[in-house]
Amino acid sequence: MENPLDHRSFIWIINDADKLVFVNDAWLAFAGENTAPQLTASLVLDQPIWRFIQGQETSYLYKQIFRRVRAGKSPVKFPFRCDSPDCRRFMEMQLSLLPGNAIQFMAQILRQEWRQSLDFLDTSRDIPREFLKICSWCKKINIPGRGWEEITAAIVALDLFGRHPMPRMTHTICDACHSAIRLELNQESDEKLNSDRTRPNATAPGEGGRP
Ligand SMILES: [Zn+2]
Repeated sequence: MENPLDHRSFIWIINDADKLVFVNDAWLAFAGENTAPQLTASLVLDQPIWRFIQGQETSYLYKQIFRRVRAGKSPVKFPFRCDSPDCRRFMEMQLSLLPGNAIQFMAQILRQEWRQSLDFLDTSRDIPREFLKICSWCKKINIPGRGWEEITAAIVALDLFGRHPMPRMTHTICDACHSAIRLELNQESDEKLNSDRTRPNATAPGEGGRP
């Protein structure tokens, strides 16, 4: 189903300690329209951005991206998905370095598609027993034996609407997103090593702190 594209720009800024120091009105409105109706500027400002990023792998990748932006490689731009239960949103985020090692995030919706409501995306529901892996970046779901596919394909393949209770979602990174981001970060690392010969034993990003 087609619908008018949302042209708002969602902007937020973190300081050098990764705390939110600015969110624009569109960001607050967007949050209110989706999962957090009571969110106000006073509730989110001065909070670590890590409170709003789910999943260890996702946090790890964001840390690498922040490092890249603060190394002067800004702006960094990448596509991501921010779905609600009834809408698939294809978005783009751009990170820019501001004075004092602050980082500005600007997100826009490139495309959106409405769909039948997907109750299991509501992560506030606490349903134990089963876990489905969902990629925090592209929102694909891991179908056992088949790999990463769109949510709509997973509904059919796993008969999600026919099962009670719905499986619980666990956020992770799919193989394709992981490879793409690691490749980008490794290129960045190579450039840095080539220009910085005082650190011959420096490790590539991510080799510490990963299981
Ligand atoms: Zn992915």
